[in-house]
Amino acid sequence: MKSVWSDFERSLSFNSLEGDFKTNTLIIGGGIAGILCSHFLRSAGIDCAVVESNRIFSGVTENTTAKISIQHGLIFQRVLHSFGEEKAKLFLKAHQKALTEYEKLFEKISCDYEKKDSFVYSLTDRRKIEKEIEALDRLGLKADFLEEVDLPLKIKGAVRIKNQGQFHPLKFAMGISEDLLIFENTKVLELKKNKAVTNRGEIFFENLIVATHFPIFNKHGLYPLKMFQHRSYVVALEAKKNVNGIYVDEDEKGLSFRNYKDFLILGGGAHRTGKSGGGWRELEAFAEKNFPEAEISYRWAAQDCMTLDGVSYIGQYSKNTPNVYVTTGFNKWGFTSAMVSALLLSDLISGKESPFSSIFSPSRTMLRPQLAVNTFESLLGLLTPTVPRCPHLGCALKYNKEEHSWDCSCHGSRFSEEGKLLDSPSTADLKKKPKK
Ligand SMILES: Cc1cc2nc3c(=O)[nH]c(=O)nc-3n(C[C@H](O)[C@H](O)[C@H](O)COP(=O)(O)OP(=O)(O)OC[C@H]3O[C@@H](n4cnc5c(N)ncnc54)[C@H](O)[C@@H]3O)c2cc1C
Repeated sequence: MKSVWSDFERSLSFNSLEGDFKTNTLIIGGGIAGILCSHFLRSAGIDCAVVESNRIFSGVTENTTAKISIQHGLIFQRVLHSFGEEKAKLFLKAHQKALTEYEKLFEKISCDYEKKDSFVYSLTDRRKIEKEIEALDRLGLKADFLEEVDLPLKIKGAVRIKNQGQFHPLKFAMGISEDLLIFENTKVLELKKNKAVTNRGEIFFENLIVATHFPIFNKHGLYPLKMFQHRSYVVALEAKKNVNGIYVDEDEKGLSFRNYKDFLILGGGAHRTGKSGGGWRELEAFAEKNFPEAEISYRWAAQDCMTLDGVSYIGQYSKNTPNVYVTTGFNKWGFTSAMVSALLLSDLISGKESPFSSIFSPSRTMLRPQLAVNTFESLLGLLTPTVPRCPHLGCALKYNKEEHSWDCSCHGSRFSEEGKLLDSPSTADLKKKPKK
């Protein structure tokens, strides 16, 4: 199981930490979020370093589909409804700025970037699409309604935003990381006041950014209640079908599409981690029906953190941790969100105000319907009396037949059949190999 990006041979690797070290800002996690934060902090003249337990971009970012869009599903009507017009305008502006920053970087970094129109379609509900166009109109962005798109699907409607994009994440990683101070194969094990204890030495810092995908420190911030993880499956087909854009279904269980070279990249089969869903079977059935001649050359899966209100958590980790920041909860739209976090956090750490702080604040209200679902799932996981248990917070793990792993439906940690950690927020392996 590997992504279409993984065949790319990396031109850079970074040494591990050797002994103790001191920096102004320590960033834990070398995915798109941590690396972009480091790039912008360095550009602002701030001394910083990234620690990555594996290799950079080897986490979710290596298993993405790498579409860059401000159109995170039907997000604008949702943000307008939950946050009001003023904040919704800021949300739009933040992501537009993120896109512009990428475009500047793509002029210097060669990473198969192509400008593409972005589409969100509905198979069932025309009105939802119309409402998104109305919401965008209120926020001052012109979007188009389409009756048909270049996909083998009968849709009720689609909203198009022009001039978004797609790229190759690992090629981008090599270009953006060249000048950064990064320690690979260095895992943070424990956090103390202004000090991170790693498996290779201690790092002293003034400021800390936690960019570990799911935040790994449980003591503050209530992230296990504020987020859950949603798993998606992807195949790359040698379909030679040009879909002329980047597409997602408005239904989070629906399909997504883009091209990369001769491949059609098809995503879907999604479900809450630890639960069942369509998986690769659903994608294979779609491919078989619509592209019967096409070989499946790559198949992979990954998961992302979903927030209570569809907006990322970017800012101070919690009210009680003044020099500790977080960037997480990208709701499967990590590229513009990671760029927003780099802009916002580099401003805060440079001592400036950020116009976007309030909308992304991790301390904003938790009173959203999803909180009840997360609480219920956590209680269910805790009270289910089966073994094995997750080392993160003790929930029951469920065997995932499709991927041969043990998965936690509370917070999304995953383990191999041998009990090795595959996905955070757990930071530890299982103590022994679980019995099926
Ligand atoms: C199937 C799928 C498709 C997607 N497609 C898109 C898309 O088309 N467009 C889009 O915008 N978004 C997409 N996303 C979302 C996007 O890929 C993610 O939001 C983004 O990659 C997350 O980046 P990250 O830096 O937060 O996490 P990661 O890339 O997982 O980076 C976190 C890093 O932290 C490291 N780490 C963790 N703990 C420690 C520790 N204790 N010490 C040191 N290092 C540590 C990990 O090793 C990891 O490398 C998709 C998501 C999925 C699941």
